[in-house]
Order: sequence, then C-alpha cells, then structure tokens
Amino acid sequence: MTLTLVTLTSYSFFMPIRPEHDSFMKVAYAQALKSHQEGGLPIGAVLIEKGQLVAAGHNRRVQDGDPIAHGEMDCLRKAGRRSRYDQTTLYTTLSPCMMCAGAILQFGIGRVVVGEDRNFPGNVDFLRSRGVDVVLLSDAACIALMGGFIQEHPTLWDEDIAGRERA
Ligand SMILES: [Zn+2]
Repeated sequence: MTLTLVTLTSYSFFMPIRPEHDSFMKVAYAQALKSHQEGGLPIGAVLIEKGQLVAAGHNRRVQDGDPIAHGEMDCLRKAGRRSRYDQTTLYTTLSPCMMCAGAILQFGIGRVVVGEDRNFPGNVDFLRSRGVDVVLLSDAACIALMGGFIQEHPTLWDEDIAGRERA
C-alpha cells in the first residue's frame, strides 16, 4: 500500500517536470563534454533558480590542478555569493561525492537532479536521508560519457575519487 502510494506520488510529481529536467541536464551534459574536450573529467553541473540558469560549471581537476574543483563545486563557485539556496536546484551529470554532497547540505540546496549513479553511486540516499529532494534521471548520455572516460582514463578517475568508490 505504502509502495503504491509512493509510486503514484512520484509518477504524478515527476512526469510534468521531466522535460524541464532533461533540458537543464543537457546544459550540464554540455559542460561535461566541454571538460572532456579540454582533457578533464567529464562531469558538469548547473544551478537553477525559478527556472532560470544561475551558473554552470564542470570538473576542473586536470585543467586547474585543483583537487577540490569538482563539477558541482565549480558551478557553486561560479554562482558567487548567495544568501539562500533553498529555492535552487543543482543539476549534476554524476551522483555527488561526499565533498559535493556536504556542500549541498551546507548551503541548503533544496533539490538535486542527478544524471546518473551507475558509474559512481555517490550519495543519493544520504542526501535524501537529510531531506534533499533528489531526482535520479539515469540518463543514457551521461552514463555513456562517464563510462567511456573511466575506461579511457582509469587512473585519472581513480585520482578524482581517491580510490574510494564509496566514500
Ligand atoms: Zn564531488
């Protein structure tokens, strides 16, 4: 009974906003692709508020030699100073690592839309347990781009997560 209710609620809530999720995830994906073309990790993120793009960013670990510059962190840095984040949605092509999940909780970001969690499980359940509305798209393009990168550059990927598939 509970399961049915959850399923119906998710369905009715999810369906009308799926096109919006897809279009913003495409912007995050374009950021991931840009990073890939620069020789970096193909992980992109965008911050949205009231249907408007606030900022976009991508992983810059290789480009800047900056271990903290994950896609989500770069996006949040580009968004600059803000007094509140509760009405914002962060889109990220890959499930957030613990550092980025921490930033999401620290800033009180209300919703996170995750492109995929197949190549890296990240912290979807943890964020949900802390009250963040997490939408998992399992987007085929995000899965293919990240999966291809991990196969091509296993050492770079291992460095980005410090050899920890589950932080
Ligand atoms: Zn991260």
